[in-house]
Amino acid sequence: MLRSRRIDDGRPLILPVPPGLGAFDALAVYAAVCGNPECLCDRMDLDVRPGARVGESTFEFDGVLGGGEASSSGEDVSLDAEALGAPVAQWLAARLAEEGNREWLRERWTRLRAQAGDPRYGTPTLPEDLTWLIPLHDVFPGEFDLTCAARGAMYLAEDSYCLRPGCTCDDVTVEFIELSSPGSPKPLGPARASIRRLDKFRTGDPQLRDLWAALLQQHGSGKLRERFARMRVWIRFDGPCAMRMPTRFSSGSIQKLVKYAPENPNDPAVPYMPAAPGSSVTATPRPKPMPGRGA
Ligand SMILES: [Zn+2]
Ligand SMILES: [Zn+2]
Repeated sequence: MLRSRRIDDGRPLILPVPPGLGAFDALAVYAAVCGNPECLCDRMDLDVRPGARVGESTFEFDGVLGGGEASSSGEDVSLDAEALGAPVAQWLAARLAEEGNREWLRERWTRLRAQAGDPRYGTPTLPEDLTWLIPLHDVFPGEFDLTCAARGAMYLAEDSYCLRPGCTCDDVTVEFIELSSPGSPKPLGPARASIRRLDKFRTGDPQLRDLWAALLQQHGSGKLRERFARMRVWIRFDGPCAMRMPTRFSSGSIQKLVKYAPENPNDPAVPYMPAAPGSSVTATPRPKPMPGRGA
């Protein structure tokens, strides 16, 4: 089943600047929203940070140059021209008015408000052809997507979890989709590993092995464990088969998984990829159902 959706991995919008505009190689735009779930305000704050190039497509950002505001639709942007300087403000306003960047603002608003608990956003979109493997995005569309940079490209790592009634597997299944390739990219994978032994993923496919290693290296196993725990709680208490799930995953063991998850390594250098993270995928991966173990 083909669907299209926007990708948002929570990273800033990075805009390489033309030479001569300022003493920086790129600007990063960060957005923040009001955290009150019931508030009906519809403007987000923008922070603009200057960055220096540290690699071919990698920048490091430090300090704040200025700020501004944008409407929830991304259409009405106002920037602090005094702090940014008129030429920078003008250039940035023109960039933010471009279609892909306006959509980035709109998507970021939607995700952040869903994360703040705003009931107008983040409703699960469970497919009618529900299989036993369900992507976290279908259940928590307000969560940020997982992406990783590998082999000179940016990939969406679509993580899915098993909700087969009676199954006691603790697997995470990931399909990788290259975000910069045009058209409907073919997902790579699925790759599958136990949440307790994420490093024990084995495959003969060198590309898949590289992608899996990049995912773990850039997010840490804690990120996947956190997402696994969220899905387990949902499957047990809110999912379509809530009453039929085995009791192996008590809330205590879920807590334990999260508690012992290592901290995410924080790479200070942010890779810039023209087609990500503001890009969309046209082919949402739909992993094939796999026989559960121990069912
Ligand atoms: Zn508000
Ligand atoms: Zn299973």
